[in-house]
Amino acid sequence: MKQKILNEMNLETTLDKIYGVGLKIYKKLQKIGLNTVSDAIFYYPFRYEDFSHLKQINELINEESATIRGKIILLNNKRSPRKKMNITEMLLEDNSGQIQIVWFNQPYIKNTLQIGDELFVSGIVKKSLLGFSLINPNYEKTNRDTSHTARIIPIYPTTEHLSQKQLRYIIKQSLNCINEIQEKLPKNIIEKEKLIDLRDAIKQIHFPDNYKKLEEAKKRLSFDEILILSCLSKFIKKQNIELSSPQINFKEKQIVDFVKKIPFDLTQDQKKAAWQILKDINNKIPMNRLLEGDVGSGKTIVSFVCAYNVILNKYQTILMSPTQILAKQHFENATKFFKDYNINILLFTNSDRLLFNGKKEIANKLTKNEISKFIKKSNFIIGTHSLIQQKVGFENIGLIIIDEQHRFGVRQRQELTKKSDISPHFLSMTATPIPRSLALTIYGDLDISRILQKPVGRKKIITKFVSQQNRSKAYEFIYNQIQNGRQVFVVCPLINESDKLGVKSVMSEYEKLNNDIFPNLKIEYLHGKMKETEKQKILKSFSESETKILVSTSVIEVGIDYPNATIMMIEGADRFGLASLHQFRGRVGRSIYQSFCFLFSDSNSEKSKKRLEILTKTDDGFKLAEFDLKFRGSGDLYGIKQSGFMSNIKIADLSDLELIKKCNTWAQYIFERGIEKFPEIKKEVELLSSDIHLE
Ligand code: ADP
Ligand code: MG
Repeated sequence: MKQKILNEMNLETTLDKIYGVGLKIYKKLQKIGLNTVSDAIFYYPFRYEDFSHLKQINELINEESATIRGKIILLNNKRSPRKKMNITEMLLEDNSGQIQIVWFNQPYIKNTLQIGDELFVSGIVKKSLLGFSLINPNYEKTNRDTSHTARIIPIYPTTEHLSQKQLRYIIKQSLNCINEIQEKLPKNIIEKEKLIDLRDAIKQIHFPDNYKKLEEAKKRLSFDEILILSCLSKFIKKQNIELSSPQINFKEKQIVDFVKKIPFDLTQDQKKAAWQILKDINNKIPMNRLLEGDVGSGKTIVSFVCAYNVILNKYQTILMSPTQILAKQHFENATKFFKDYNINILLFTNSDRLLFNGKKEIANKLTKNEISKFIKKSNFIIGTHSLIQQKVGFENIGLIIIDEQHRFGVRQRQELTKKSDISPHFLSMTATPIPRSLALTIYGDLDISRILQKPVGRKKIITKFVSQQNRSKAYEFIYNQIQNGRQVFVVCPLINESDKLGVKSVMSEYEKLNNDIFPNLKIEYLHGKMKETEKQKILKSFSESETKILVSTSVIEVGIDYPNATIMMIEGADRFGLASLHQFRGRVGRSIYQSFCFLFSDSNSEKSKKRLEILTKTDDGFKLAEFDLKFRGSGDLYGIKQSGFMSNIKIADLSDLELIKKCNTWAQYIFERGIEKFPEIKKEVELLSSDIHLE
């Protein structure tokens, strides 16, 4: 019966209808997001193994991957007595010789094959006592079109218990529906960019005939991905323009007074950014602006100036940050800066911790009603994302500021403004520098302000790569600094050693420093799995300079300001991207004292050493981001890949700025002619945009 359905298969057919796919496999497929034939078609391999060159048995080389073709002359199942394993043994013969082939715990193989069958077998050649053998190789009968052997084999991301072989089979079956996929690009683009046909590209990305075809397929699919992304940006921007925001008048006199009272002079870049924002919000079209500036460049005060102007217009401002620690710090800063102004400030990190004007802390669970009352009374509401999760109404919001996030706005705007006709203005702030043309694509719907200058008087942070031999010298240096009153951060990649063998962990470093190296200093540790109250306690002790050394995971990556900390020690530095390392480094150097960043790494690889040395030479976040692109590719650059916005990027390399520029130009072309004229592109863009709204 399933065979019959197979003939009527279409893109929407669920994969359990495929012959041989039972409920059990179907459930596993669903776990990796594969429900329908269409899902399977668009599930791309993440790498390939080359089994395309047939070898004679007597030509095999130890440890090399190879494909051979031969006839079965022996086939047996036996049990290994000690390990209770089932072993299938085969002897395969070609014109040049014989080879032993072994599978563990796959007894069914014996039932699917017979002596005399001709097979392709692909695997890694291993030398054993009895000559060469292949262990757990892929195999296929030669009388079929091959998908597991004798070709460039796709390797898919998968979970345990769902084999490559099963996936390949399912995808191969699904590809029978390839003709239902509609071409989305107009002919002129395809011709101008010398792209191959979409269906061809999809077929080749799964089962490439050769490397040239594979490259062509990648080129075509990358182009589509970036083009769609670029169109999506433009699409969202267009939608945004149709909404209406409160117009925030520029209260020049009060703003100038406020800026005068700030205990430092704003840099030119800060002034310019503030001015751009103030101009934007003096308009009914919602502002959607990204404020980019290196760590410590002073984004917060810029946002405060703007918040103040919004509040003067009798609208509320919300400031959201990714962590409670950061929210608390913003709250304290706001309380300080707005001390002499009649402004109600609320800290809201969850419903049992609510601070109003720094006075009351309510420790009991508040009812929705009570929370609402506090929110209504507040001018400036600072919190984490739990602000959104609360189903309390925000009715009078003029501006939403989102700190240390890569891109947002769309979903938050929807969530926060569900109950109101007016859409607030949006300001996102990030310390993640992104090359301009890339920003144009992923942030095409945003306007960007950049703070490039550092506040005056900041000293350059001295950054050094420390070899193992010099470790004790570094400790000595640290000890002296602490004796002079300074404090130290130690960042490690993991919490526990057992998480990954040999990688530096918070707990083991803490114990080492606390017990062996500095037994007479107060040392604490901090990681993301600790209770919030405990974290607060530890940070308080650090900010009061009681704790001298704080060992932590990357939880301190964003935003925290401890002027007295002057040393940042990073263990396992090779495990972080340059952009992250640069962020860690930005935790120090926030005062008049000279600060230091020490990089430690157990990796002996030249490449990783070279990479880390770049950090010792430059403190330009944009340059570092470009190096990251070069060294690490766009793999999970900036964490943006996880955001819904990027969910369509599977193949494209975001470091390919050339391609990005091209696609931006074509997206422009598409919108100039009207996206309605490109129905397949429109369909995809609309689908993605609704995904983002639901994200
Ligand atoms: P980030 O851009 O990383 O969020 P912050 O806004 O936290 O940086 O600013 C870092 C520190 O620099 C804060 O203590 C802030 O008060 C201070 N700061 C901001 N702007 C200036 C300036 N123009 N001159 C001197 N200090 C400044
Ligand atoms: Mg900040």
